[in-house]
Amino acid sequence: MNKISVWILGDQLLDQHPALAAASKETQVEEVKVVLIESAERIRQRPYQRKKLVLLLSAMRHYAQELRDRGYEVDYIHAETFANGLQRHVDQHKPDKLLTMAAASYQGRGMQDALQDRLGVNVDLLPNVQFLIGHHDPYPEPDPEKRYVMENFYRALRKHFVVLMEDENPVGGQWNFDKDNRKKLPKEAKPPSDISFPPDRITLRVMGEIAELQNHVGSVDGFDYAVTREQALEAFQYFLEHKLIDFGPYEDAMTGRSHSLYHSVLSPYLNIGLLEPMELIRDVEKAYIKGRAPINSVEGFIRQILGWREFMYWQYWRLMPGMMDMNVWEARCSVPDFCWTGETDMACLAHVIRRALDTGYNHHIERLMILSNFFLLTGIEPKAVNEWFLSVYVDAYDWVMPPNAIGMGLNADGGLIATKPYIASANYINRMGDFCKECRYDHRERIGEMACPYNFLYWNFILQHEEQLRSNPRTSRSVLGLRHLSEGERSRVKHEAESFLQDIERFN
Ligand code: FAD
Repeated sequence: MNKISVWILGDQLLDQHPALAAASKETQVEEVKVVLIESAERIRQRPYQRKKLVLLLSAMRHYAQELRDRGYEVDYIHAETFANGLQRHVDQHKPDKLLTMAAASYQGRGMQDALQDRLGVNVDLLPNVQFLIGHHDPYPEPDPEKRYVMENFYRALRKHFVVLMEDENPVGGQWNFDKDNRKKLPKEAKPPSDISFPPDRITLRVMGEIAELQNHVGSVDGFDYAVTREQALEAFQYFLEHKLIDFGPYEDAMTGRSHSLYHSVLSPYLNIGLLEPMELIRDVEKAYIKGRAPINSVEGFIRQILGWREFMYWQYWRLMPGMMDMNVWEARCSVPDFCWTGETDMACLAHVIRRALDTGYNHHIERLMILSNFFLLTGIEPKAVNEWFLSVYVDAYDWVMPPNAIGMGLNADGGLIATKPYIASANYINRMGDFCKECRYDHRERIGEMACPYNFLYWNFILQHEEQLRSNPRTSRSVLGLRHLSEGERSRVKHEAESFLQDIERFN
């Protein structure tokens, strides 16, 4: 009988793992050796959010325990590198074959491609099943120069997987309910608190280990994320019962009064395989069919997973490795120091950064319209922005960050992912949120002592890139706003933006 080993990566903690299924076709469960590796080098690769490290390592250790309970022999290895760990396993157990599922990231896939030669053992690399485009790719041979629009991609997936469809038509008569989904949070609204999972013995132990590590971000204190599939499913049920109804209308709202508003906080679990996209999509669709949630919330949520998440993964594989060097706005500055502390007078930034450092989470509009907007307007280098985001979030992984940060957030790809740069002045931040009320700056002032920096930075960006913005039909209207700025105001905008940027550099 073949001796089979299965290597499961830390972000592939699937309930039904395809490599285990493949192994079971060739041999008995008791004969399969499952390998899980914690690599010290990988953990040192960059500063990471401590809560992310706790989540990942605790989830891996719980998963190992569950596999043992299912009868598998698990070789749980602490090694310097993944390759060292695998070598140790192969030397000790001498498998005839190693099965593993393709990594979601470019770096991981490169390492897997070299494994067979390196280990001297047959390696079967199975397709990654954590994304739906692994089952159906609407554009299997994309043109590298062409722009692909998320909306068309998403519609193709909805049709293929028959999600929210009535024959050939979208349920509710529309593909998109975005116009119903742009409400500010009313004063009297009380968004539900987030579900919390007190750490158990395994998690407490990991928290102790991570607290000891130097050069990472945030603290292990207050860790309360789910670390098993059972808990992640409970978090999803909590979302269905308490948040889904209002997900749509307040999707873009921002507030200091709630951690996540009506967002699901499920990305940390989806990204490590504790939850799978289609199970969430089907249950949310059922909530609509049973009349438990309105179409704008249901479609809005499904669009995030079936649309944006899949599109980003698809774009990542289309544009890597070149995407890492994209920088069409020629941004060269480094990330301001206050991004590591939250110490800034701008209330929105201070609030959002502190929450990111403390919990590892911001919702999408905070990531896009507060943080990325600021980084784009201040000319922070895309690679540095990508690194910063990778360091602060609990759901950050190599495949998800470049398309979101370099593509959507900074538009450094020249619009290959999103058709326009997401830039906005304080007017937008005030319209969608309540941070401006408590800020020392005035969101209405464009220039002067009290002017919100988002305002002069916004107009400075438009002045600097006027031609480029004018040539894009989706941004040409913002250039028209320049008509309202006199020559004198234009030069003050430039001057104030320059001295603000010099201050940031000086304090770095
Ligand atoms: P919800 O609003 O409840 O949405 C449901 C799910 O949709 C999410 O859990 C997520 O899995 C998926 N989703 C929605 N939009 C995207 C998207 N653009 N890309 C990928 N998945 C999406 N997402 C991450 O998973 N990890 C990251 O590190 C990450 N960093 C980001 C950085 C920037 C600059 C931007 C603009 C976006 C980033 N996103 C990232 C995408 C998105 O902001 C998060 O997925 C979302 O905020 C997670 O919170 P949630 O689970 O409450 O999401």
